[in-house]
Amino acid sequence: MLNLILFGPPGSGKGTQALKLVEQYQLIHISTGDLFRYEMKNNTHLGTRAKEYMTKGELVPDEVTIGMLENRLDQSPDARGFIFDGFPRTIPQAEALDALLGDRNTSITGLVALEVPDSEIIERILMRSKTSGRPDDNNTEIVKNRILVYRAETKPVYSYYNAQEKSRTVDGLGTIEEVFDRLCSEIDAVVTN
Ligand code: ADP
Repeated sequence: MLNLILFGPPGSGKGTQALKLVEQYQLIHISTGDLFRYEMKNNTHLGTRAKEYMTKGELVPDEVTIGMLENRLDQSPDARGFIFDGFPRTIPQAEALDALLGDRNTSITGLVALEVPDSEIIERILMRSKTSGRPDDNNTEIVKNRILVYRAETKPVYSYYNAQEKSRTVDGLGTIEEVFDRLCSEIDAVVTN
């Protein structure tokens, strides 16, 4: 299987690139942000719980997120591989993911991180807020909090996979196609290794 983690700060283009990568490598896209928004839209118990955190730009508790992820994995038992977008976002989530994949006789192939400066991120998210309808996008304070949370809790996940020699970085500035080509080069290098 080819199991990729698409990594990077909020607004770095993970969602956009994930859709293109899914097509290129025939993978199943799992975005925990999208899964939470779906639950919220349907007013499920999980959605109501997640909303409390998402609207403040905080992380949903690990046990909630990991449980949801496991359910999603089990919905695609025949996948050729997965692209994880917005997950894992904490070290305990990374450890849980490794264990869940291990139970299924597979593992993470590689992590590719999109590198985008904070100033550009804030600009992109505020721009996206005009069409995304996401309440966590149109408030600068919440966006700043998401970036702080990313630095404190999520960034260490890069080092976690780097210790397994699986992390790679790509320049996230440029056109969608330029960034996509860079990602594909890194992924192809991981796959042939
Ligand atoms: P972005 O990458 O632009 O921040 P996402 O759609 O990935 O957007 O996430 C939106 C929000 O959903 C996060 O700020 C967080 O509250 C919640 N969320 C998504 N994924 C996770 C996760 N793996 N763990 C905890 N919370 C998450």
